[in-house]
Amino acid sequence: MNAVTKTSQGFAVTVEDTLAGGTVEFSAKQVVNATGAWADLLSATNAKVRPQRGSHIFISASRLPIHDCLTVMHPDDDRPVFIYPWKGQTCIGTTDLDHRESVNVEPHCTSAEIDYLLKVANKQLPSASLTRADIISTMAGVRPIIGSGTGNDPSKERRDHLVWTGSNGVVSVSGGKLTTFRLIALDVLHALGTISDKQLKEAQNNRKLRCFNHRVEDPCNLSAPLAQVPSNDDLKTQVEWILQNEMVQHLDDLMLRRVRAGNMLPEGGASVLDVIKPLCMQYLVWDESRWQQELARYHQVIASSYSVPA
Ligand SMILES: Cc1cc2nc3c(=O)[nH]c(=O)nc-3n(C[C@H](O)[C@H](O)[C@H](O)COP(=O)(O)OP(=O)(O)OC[C@H]3O[C@@H](n4cnc5c(N)ncnc54)[C@H](O)[C@@H]3O)c2cc1C
Repeated sequence: MNAVTKTSQGFAVTVEDTLAGGTVEFSAKQVVNATGAWADLLSATNAKVRPQRGSHIFISASRLPIHDCLTVMHPDDDRPVFIYPWKGQTCIGTTDLDHRESVNVEPHCTSAEIDYLLKVANKQLPSASLTRADIISTMAGVRPIIGSGTGNDPSKERRDHLVWTGSNGVVSVSGGKLTTFRLIALDVLHALGTISDKQLKEAQNNRKLRCFNHRVEDPCNLSAPLAQVPSNDDLKTQVEWILQNEMVQHLDDLMLRRVRAGNMLPEGGASVLDVIKPLCMQYLVWDESRWQQELARYHQVIASSYSVPA
């Protein structure tokens, strides 16, 4: 969505097709701007979002075999950091820092963040003696935190969501947690006038909306085998299904956001690209030239945002 203006009927919306090119205009009765860290760009109000980066590092499970999620406190700032099994490897994260780069550029884990994450792991699990050479890959994301304007330490900012209406009449929503999505959605419906004060109160009091049951089979079973990185045969089966059903546009969509091989395997999963290539050619009808373009783009994304910076 590029632009939105109020009309007598509702809203005129302009969207850009960034894949095929061109813009499309349409009208809408209501527009909700739920664009996370990008929300300020469309909200027609003063800035509300304080973008905060959270970075992770991935270590081979053979170097750091972890069976459950550990919450450990960082020796420098007493922040909780998680160390947990992730798709056959071990993930350590996150950091929580002001993200000062453009939100339109894919974020990356910085060298200082790597030092910070290795420090907490080595402090709490000293026998592991982890070094940068043990890191398979990195990953960073940007949290849309609603800023208090006090210049607080980023970690001290509240994680609440905010719903607000801009001068263009657009209802914006940002902040919050994945786990509070139902309550956030109710506040949005209320701001749009879709539900009344009474309906909002009743729904907020519905305990089912606050209830999340996460069943853990046997959290203390340390003899249970660790999850394994998928074999090439399993990967092939997954990729075949994904290519037919999950609207993959680029190799990085597939490797980083569908199968995650780019994070699970060293060098962005270079060892499985020969398995992936014929499948992309078959199901996405890519020719050799398109494959080479995708490969170049993928290597650039891995180098800039998923590797260990110098
Ligand atoms: C490192 C990290 C750790 C986190 N940890 C937790 C946690 O432990 N527990 C928890 O509950 N939550 C956690 N979160 C927070 C959670 O992921 C966010 O609250 C959530 O992703 C925000 O959801 P959202 O839908 O508002 O934004 P997003 O998920 O960012 O979605 C916004 C969407 O809008 C799209 N968009 C942007 N601009 C435009 C535009 N102009 N037109 C059209 N589309 C646009 C974007 O492409 C994106 O798809 C974490 C987030 C990060 C980054």
